[in-house]
Amino acid sequence: DSKRRGRNGWQAFTAELAEQQLQRLQLETHLRRAVYNDEFHLVYQPQVDLGSGRLVGSEALIRWRNRSLGEMRPDRFIDHAETTGDIVGIGRWVLREGCRQLRQWRDAGLAIDRIAINVSYRQFLSEDLIQSVREALDQSDLPGHMLELEFTERVLIEDDPDTHRAFDELRGMGVQLSIDDFGEGYSALNYLRRLPISGLKLSQLFIQGVPDNHSDVAVCQAVTGIASSLGLQVVAEGVETPAQRDFLLQLGITTGQGFLYAPGLPPDQFLQRYRAGAPD
Ligand code: C2E
Ligand code: MG
Ligand code: MG
Ligand code: MG
Repeated sequence: DSKRRGRNGWQAFTAELAEQQLQRLQLETHLRRAVYNDEFHLVYQPQVDLGSGRLVGSEALIRWRNRSLGEMRPDRFIDHAETTGDIVGIGRWVLREGCRQLRQWRDAGLAIDRIAINVSYRQFLSEDLIQSVREALDQSDLPGHMLELEFTERVLIEDDPDTHRAFDELRGMGVQLSIDDFGEGYSALNYLRRLPISGLKLSQLFIQGVPDNHSDVAVCQAVTGIASSLGLQVVAEGVETPAQRDFLLQLGITTGQGFLYAPGLPPDQFLQRYRAGAPD
């Protein structure tokens, strides 16, 4: 392919690279000012009791609406925000906004006592995390146990003394700590045992294939086994069909989230849907 690339080929290639660089630069420039310009909002995916459909919590999912770039999902910008360091400020905003929303729902009479918030790797390592969590809880007058932080497996494999200290400090505040997308990455079982984790979120990668795909079934069984012997909660994510739900219930997994129940919802829709007496 590169042999056939003549002079024009190379020019096109360089032009494409330059275009990509430019786009990245544009994105990062907008990203830097996005918190200040109030361009982020959160949608909330219900976490439900799989048997009854009853609400047990909610996961906050970030969205970015920019005048020139349009509406973006986190896959478009979280990695960039990690690279530039903007994730620290964004993460602080998410914590504060998610806790504020839970407080508001509770004040409006909604029976919900958990908000789950995603924390990226770099944000976890930042000095700022503990302070941000404390401020978010204080400002919304919420006890720590109503906040759940979701980390990726990457946090586990770095066996850093700072990791242990941060986890201990968060657990000391009562904050729940879960491993997101569990099973996709490094499966650092050893660290599971050593860190004060309270739950695992079984990756939707494996939920997709159940109950038909044998290896996905095996992974779900294995994760359930590990979780129950270590006393960890399991939340299944990406539950899309009744057959998947039934399989999970049979395995003894009682909590899940996914399009079978609802996608991420704007807060007012979330409230309407789950307010006492609202039809299912
Ligand atoms: P995640 O935390 O694993 O969130 C689940 C993702 O799967 C969400 O995508 C959600 O909309 C999607 N999803 C939920 N139910 C289903 C389903 O039944 N089927 C399928 N196919 N997908 C489903 P989203 O909102 O695009 O978020 C993508 C990822 O971005 C999240 O994965 C999380 O890792 C990250 N993220 C989201 N919000 C934040 C945030 O505030 N901070 C940080 N650091 N990361 C975030
Ligand atoms: Mg998550
Ligand atoms: Mg996940
Ligand atoms: Mg994911």
